[in-house]
Amino acid sequence: MRYTPVRQYYVPVRGRSNILAQKPSKLTKKTLHWLIVLSTIPLFGFVTAFGIAPSAAPLQEVHIKKVVRDLYLPEILPELESTTENLFWRHETIRRGDTIAAILERLDINQQDKIDFMRTARDSRAMRQLRPGKIIHAQTTSDGNLQSLRYLFGNEELFLIEKAEQAYQISEQKIELESQIQMKSGTVNSSLFAAADNAGIPNAIAVQMIDILASEIDFYRDLRRGDRFTVVYETLMDNDGEFTKNGKVLAIEFANRNKIYQAIHFESSNGSSGYYTPTGESLRKAFLKAPLDFSRISSGFSKKRFHPVLKKWRAHKGIDYAAPRGTPIKTTANGVIKYIGTQRGYGKLIIVKHNDQYETAYGHLSNFAKGLKKGSRVNQSDIIGYVGMTGMATGPHLHYELRVNGVQRDPAKVILPTAPPIAKKDASAFQNQAASLIARLDIMRNLYLASLN
Ligand SMILES: [Zn+2]
Repeated sequence: MRYTPVRQYYVPVRGRSNILAQKPSKLTKKTLHWLIVLSTIPLFGFVTAFGIAPSAAPLQEVHIKKVVRDLYLPEILPELESTTENLFWRHETIRRGDTIAAILERLDINQQDKIDFMRTARDSRAMRQLRPGKIIHAQTTSDGNLQSLRYLFGNEELFLIEKAEQAYQISEQKIELESQIQMKSGTVNSSLFAAADNAGIPNAIAVQMIDILASEIDFYRDLRRGDRFTVVYETLMDNDGEFTKNGKVLAIEFANRNKIYQAIHFESSNGSSGYYTPTGESLRKAFLKAPLDFSRISSGFSKKRFHPVLKKWRAHKGIDYAAPRGTPIKTTANGVIKYIGTQRGYGKLIIVKHNDQYETAYGHLSNFAKGLKKGSRVNQSDIIGYVGMTGMATGPHLHYELRVNGVQRDPAKVILPTAPPIAKKDASAFQNQAASLIARLDIMRNLYLASLN
């Protein structure tokens, strides 16, 4: 029988040995599909929660089960359908610079099968695409006869080689992927990326979360210990339940400094897609909140970040971002370089003109991005320079100004242009989608909050 194992489903009560001992085939497809797992990780004093439901799951049918387990995720268990007494599955992770010969060696495949395999698989595309970190599953006898071997490669293709009457047969074919919806929550403790890691959120999804909310939250200055988030996103699995890749974020809730931001993904009837507030306002804004690149490296908290040079806006007319020398600086909106050079006080300075009304200025830079000059076009998020302390600066920081009609203004108090909201003809489709995604956010957040008590 085919089943749909997803690693979170195998949830024994405690400990790794249990997980490895667990046989997956006893779980029916139905139970697997309707399970939401809540895990707590007391080991590190963090609590994270995650849930899974198929894309089309009506919310009221999602059953909830609470379990406690430690941090280890069980290995993906291969199919056991054809396992007899002396056949078993093993797997090997592909290493950097690996060859198929070396992998077969590590799998203890006997010499004759190794030669036969290499001869048969010589022209296969998969064997030329051994990507480090990916896994090769092999079914062998205890004395190293290779029965079959499978490997997911390239753009969702399955390489399969099987021994039939003493000869190997190869197939390489596209597989169908099933989209599954993941729901996870976490709390920012030491850094946003650490919180995402603890919640089991992949890096690519964490980066998407930051991008989606970049016009709302200044992750550089506003992030606080205790900020909470819930994210709903897709993952794509092959029909054996092997994870293949992350899809897109579908919804986010981010509680930052007691304010709650929600973002909903929507594809409009004209085919364009984006993120919107629950009331249908676009989250794509002409200006980013923060002019610094918020990466894994820069995401830690520092006292400096929380308390940038304290100066009254009135006297200062800009925002200071304390950041290590060399931190990349992004232009907050599309525009043209109006000034690039050195000015008293500002040190190395770039001024970007966005339109007749708006300009932004970036001061104290250590360096400009290569190739930039007066008149260069820049797009939102392009790196234009690097943090330094040229000019009148007591430590490395970026001095950032928003100027409206030539006058410095507090960006928090200026209403900045945004992309158009949801069109009238898409309104009811959007409302339906938003309601279902917000219901998921609600479920997940409430499960998570309950797990904290
Ligand atoms: Zn300043």
